[in-house]
Amino acid sequence: MESTTPLLGLRGCVIDAPEYGKLRAWRDGAVIIGDGRIVEVGSFQFLGRKHRPQPIHWQQSDRAIIFPGLIDIHTHLPQYPVVARGRGQLLEWLHQHVFPRERNFTGQIGAREGAAFFSELARHGTTTAAIYTAIYEDSCDLAFEAAAQSGMRIIMGQTMMDVGTYGTLQPRKILSVALLESERLCRKWHSEADGLLEYAFSPRFALACSERLMRSAAEMALEFGCHIQTHLSENREECERVRHLFSKALDYTDVYDKAGLLGPQTILGHCIHLSPRERAVLAETGASVAHCPTANLYLSSGIMPLGEHLAAGIKVGLGSDVAAGPELNLWQVMRSAIESQKARSFSDPNVTIPSPAEVLHLATQGAATALGKGDILGTFDSGKEADITVMDLAALLPYGGTETKIEDLTPDDMLALCIYRGGPHAVLETFVRGVSHAHAHAHAEHVAHE
Ligand SMILES: [Zn+2]
Repeated sequence: MESTTPLLGLRGCVIDAPEYGKLRAWRDGAVIIGDGRIVEVGSFQFLGRKHRPQPIHWQQSDRAIIFPGLIDIHTHLPQYPVVARGRGQLLEWLHQHVFPRERNFTGQIGAREGAAFFSELARHGTTTAAIYTAIYEDSCDLAFEAAAQSGMRIIMGQTMMDVGTYGTLQPRKILSVALLESERLCRKWHSEADGLLEYAFSPRFALACSERLMRSAAEMALEFGCHIQTHLSENREECERVRHLFSKALDYTDVYDKAGLLGPQTILGHCIHLSPRERAVLAETGASVAHCPTANLYLSSGIMPLGEHLAAGIKVGLGSDVAAGPELNLWQVMRSAIESQKARSFSDPNVTIPSPAEVLHLATQGAATALGKGDILGTFDSGKEADITVMDLAALLPYGGTETKIEDLTPDDMLALCIYRGGPHAVLETFVRGVSHAHAHAHAEHVAHE
């Protein structure tokens, strides 16, 4: 017998980016959702008339712009309260602003800030995120509990450090405790909440981890089928120190490669100063790059050569990298991904500037692929899970749209408005696996305008 549970139909301008540079759009479109999945996408005229056994509950608005849920593949939960702090570069900034903040991220704070952080993500239109917590098991555990409550799709892990850590354990105990705690967290949370939660072993970076820690983290990730996340080649001084510390390695990437950290489940933050050899290794091992342009500009780390990474065949997604990036807002990260390559092009005419369609791909299907979820997330193809971000056109337009001929706007115009003016003020609603996270503020405005 066929199900008669009503389907949900979202009507609006529907936009996705299945390939790098390829935008797909239905100006008066519709997405049909059933059982947490995309049933069908197409023009409203066609889908609205199609006969089905189940009724459709329609949510219609000529102001809605409907995108696949935005995916943030690199951010730090405990750091959010210290955004926009300090003017130094990476290593100084970590010691002055980040380590003191993370040092206090223990116990109940994980529950309180975890819950607030996940609702902030949804408010910004983000439906999936890969997140670092601090070095403590208790706060990471409570943050996972909050993540389960939030209904968001979260990949997360306790930050691992056994060199120059801000913790207070005796040096000889640090390594074994970090491994034991991460393993416990992984066993408890990996694949929980119907698979919405996943564990990521999270060695901070080569300067904060012994070779033994990196090797053990890699082994455990393999054993449990988890992600690995770390930072690679973010800052010149960091790269210089890694060269001195690991003099037997060919380069920074080789440090991770020798430890077994590079594979298709690995997410590498930044990757700005890579050689062609290192690029080839990332492409070959299937490791992904989290491009964090707002953070790279904030800490004066450099501009990642996006075109070169893509040409080498590396999988790339976008990261807000809060608190090095000042906002969780992925629309701003997309804008920065375009503008930082523009800045590079002023001194190098060979630099290609990504289009809005291309950066949308990086924040959706590209990021999904980087997380190994390209076949279940990232576009509106039927059968994929219904993670969706709905933007409010009127909130993006000057004067709330009263001076704009809305019917003349193309999907490309609407995407550009989201990238250049998008933010939480314009997020109407997010869905994770078909479940709505409505945003009260935007909704109140929405009603008031009508
Ligand atoms: Zn980071």
